[in-house]
Amino acid sequence: VSGEFAAIDRLRRALPTPGPGETWIGDDAAVVRAPGGGWLLLAADTLVAGVHADLALTGLDDFGWKAVAVNVSDIAAMGGRPLHALVTVAGPPDTGLDLLYRGIAAAAAAYHCPVVGGDLANAPVLVLTVAVTGTFEGAPLLRSGASPGDLVYVTGPLGLAAAGLRLLKEGKLAPAAALDAHRRPAAEVAAGLAARAAGATAMIDISDGLAADLGHLAEASGVGLALTELPVGDAATLDEALTGGEDYVLAFTAADPARVGEAFAGLPAPICVGRCTDDAATRTIGGRPLPAAGGWEHRWS
Ligand SMILES: [Mg+2]
Repeated sequence: VSGEFAAIDRLRRALPTPGPGETWIGDDAAVVRAPGGGWLLLAADTLVAGVHADLALTGLDDFGWKAVAVNVSDIAAMGGRPLHALVTVAGPPDTGLDLLYRGIAAAAAAYHCPVVGGDLANAPVLVLTVAVTGTFEGAPLLRSGASPGDLVYVTGPLGLAAAGLRLLKEGKLAPAAALDAHRRPAAEVAAGLAARAAGATAMIDISDGLAADLGHLAEASGVGLALTELPVGDAATLDEALTGGEDYVLAFTAADPARVGEAFAGLPAPICVGRCTDDAATRTIGGRPLPAAGGWEHRWS
């Protein structure tokens, strides 16, 4: 038995290699050359009822919103803008399609990412697959560009989505920010564009938890991480901030804090949580080892 990432790595080796300058598997979105010039971003994500969301705690409209937003978040993590969405619904015939589509349509409108097609199929459980295209101007902004000395930023508080889900499960009153973070996560498109303008060297969205996702960024860049303190969301624990996942805030690295300040004028200021080091084996927070485990990883054989 191996993990999702090992399975992806094995599948990648069975596929052709990317064209010059392109990035296929291994980043938040694939970066391919658009015919006629420029770049295209391609991302796809699947939400399975009962695996990624408990429909007793989350509305079908929220489920639809989330499927679009998490894809747009992968475009945002490349410093890109979304263009179009394809939506495929496989589910039982009695699935509340209209309610589901209310959430899909709301997210598509919010992110200027119209649904232009997709498919409908019968299946024993609800499986919602969204694919999104996007684009960007400038050079590809990947996970792999961070250098020792770069500062590490996050674009918002961490752990809110995990705290929201925990409080819902416990039947307790949860702060609106935590509930929203779980049910209707926001994709940080404006922040991603600002990070690009700030000269960000690497970026990723926090889908699997800060420790896991910053780990991916550090590994791809060949740098270490010395983190200081994290912005822990209201009602969230430090553990939820580190490993809870599904926050969909962005984490990025940049060399020049003045440029970051300028680029984020008018947006919530990103929070510096540490810096990259030249020893790739270093993964610390407050001088202690960063938890290596945690994060969202599906099991595959
Ligand atoms: Mg991602």
